Amino acid sequence: MMLKLKEDNGLFLKFKNKIISFDSIHQNSTYAFVSHAHSDHVIKKKTDIPILSSKETVKLINSRTNKSPNKYIESLENAKLLNAGHVLGSKSLLLEVDEKKILYTGDFNTRDRLFLKGFKPVKADILIIETTFGKPNYVFPKFKEVNKEASDWVQDQLKKGKNVMVIGYALGKAQILCKLFEKLPYPIFVDSQIIKINSVYSDFGIELRGFPSIREAKEKGYLSTPSIMVVPPHMVKYYWTPETKTAFFTGWANTGYPNKKIMNYDKTFSMSDHADYKELIEVVKKTDPEIVYTMHGFNREFAKDLKDLGFNAKPLVNGQTKIEDF
Ligand SMILES: [Zn+2]
Repeated sequence: MMLKLKEDNGLFLKFKNKIISFDSIHQNSTYAFVSHAHSDHVIKKKTDIPILSSKETVKLINSRTNKSPNKYIESLENAKLLNAGHVLGSKSLLLEVDEKKILYTGDFNTRDRLFLKGFKPVKADILIIETTFGKPNYVFPKFKEVNKEASDWVQDQLKKGKNVMVIGYALGKAQILCKLFEKLPYPIFVDSQIIKINSVYSDFGIELRGFPSIREAKEKGYLSTPSIMVVPPHMVKYYWTPETKTAFFTGWANTGYPNKKIMNYDKTFSMSDHADYKELIEVVKKTDPEIVYTMHGFNREFAKDLKDLGFNAKPLVNGQTKIEDF
């Protein structure tokens, strides 16, 4: 059995005559697994290789890319898709190969958040875990506490007659923000890219208010003040006015991104679609694997901490090959 990370961040597992690639494609893949619909995980080029994914993910991909040309499958022998709790339809993959259980988490979150159920770890022999927030300073407050704090702050601004822009990534965070803030007794307007995604959530029973879009409301003259706008980060500059207060929701709220600056927002709130440091450790303990491979984010730091806890852990480092026989 061989596990390898290619230059372009593509991870694959080779065993017997099969190659399974994870959130990437390898030219000789037997099949590829796509854990969720965030664009860095989706296979954009056309391929004849079947892609294992949830139906929610397929629908989200199709809604964002004007229908993907690829062939998707929902199940496969010796493979189980587990709820990953990251965004709608996100899955972890549990594989059984040569009587070994291999768990690939993909992006995950263990918390129950409104309409999303948290990821529940299972026992596995080999664990491949994402470590976006794999450093001890990333421990997030309880989801409910952040909601309360954010809701108080937003209402304060609205009472002062300001518009409030609540900002988060278009797929995942934005739907949580829509649900949270549509409860408040103020008009809410949503960016059109988010509306598209909201309509897929609605197809799967998560009703989110969609209309009108901010642009439509502006054009037709009913973007009243005070009101709430739900906006992805790259659109803030188009909607901002001096009467607008901005609040950004991210796991990087307290520290900034590792390699780039966070824009100047009036307020940031620690809310992530990923597990925090403590939750990552908890998942490793519950999975209780023979070996852990860490990937993304603080993979080296987290692998070191796992070693200190007595686990056999290795970071999957881009451009390096890791080969292990079991
Ligand atoms: Zn993601």
